[in-house]
Amino acid sequence: MSQGITILTIEDERAIRQGIVDALQFAGYRALQADNGKDGLELALNASCDLVLLDLMLPGCSGMEILKRVREVHPTLPVIILTARGAEDDRVQGLRVGADDYVVKPFSVKELMARVEAVLRRSPQRPDDVGHADVPGGVADFERREVRFADGHRNELSERETQLLRYLVAHRQRAVSRDELLSNVWLISPRGLSTRTVDMHVARLREKLRDDSANPQVLLTVRGKGYMFAGGEC
Ligand code: CA
Repeated sequence: MSQGITILTIEDERAIRQGIVDALQFAGYRALQADNGKDGLELALNASCDLVLLDLMLPGCSGMEILKRVREVHPTLPVIILTARGAEDDRVQGLRVGADDYVVKPFSVKELMARVEAVLRRSPQRPDDVGHADVPGGVADFERREVRFADGHRNELSERETQLLRYLVAHRQRAVSRDELLSNVWLISPRGLSTRTVDMHVARLREKLRDDSANPQVLLTVRGKGYMFAGGEC
């Protein structure tokens, strides 16, 4: 089940971090890593990862701060905290703030992998798994990259439009910011980039979905937040 799953490790102790990354890669996961809180937070917020392994004692930005920020932006992203032996308060607070699980240092690779697998099994559907979405009067088919309507009409979707729509559908429970879309659909850092690209693609998608651009019902504009998918069930 590790195929195509990306795991971010935020840990400042080099030996521990390297041990985790090696084990993850050996198990077939894609591994991202950060050795300080600041970089870790940026990756956790903007990179497309499926799970975060988070050390609580970090230079730059505390693990607890990172956990809070991640929870605000990605409410369902699984996070496992790495805590020191004896630090029960940290563990309790971490779980309270929204960590999915914890491991206590020193931990074995086998134990960590078992936790990772268990947490991934419980986590909601990943964006890549979304195959189609119902839209008013039809269905968006991500495999065939098209929207089919009950009246027989079909609109082809470009690769980018498909990824954009799929991402919004996968995160339908919330508004997705233009920066997050640039990071996860365009795979570029949003810093200093115009978000107009996103707006133009959304406008084209609305046309293809027969959404009303003056009063959208499928791809909603959430003022000050971004875009949100409001079509039918997957
Ligand atoms: Ca540490």
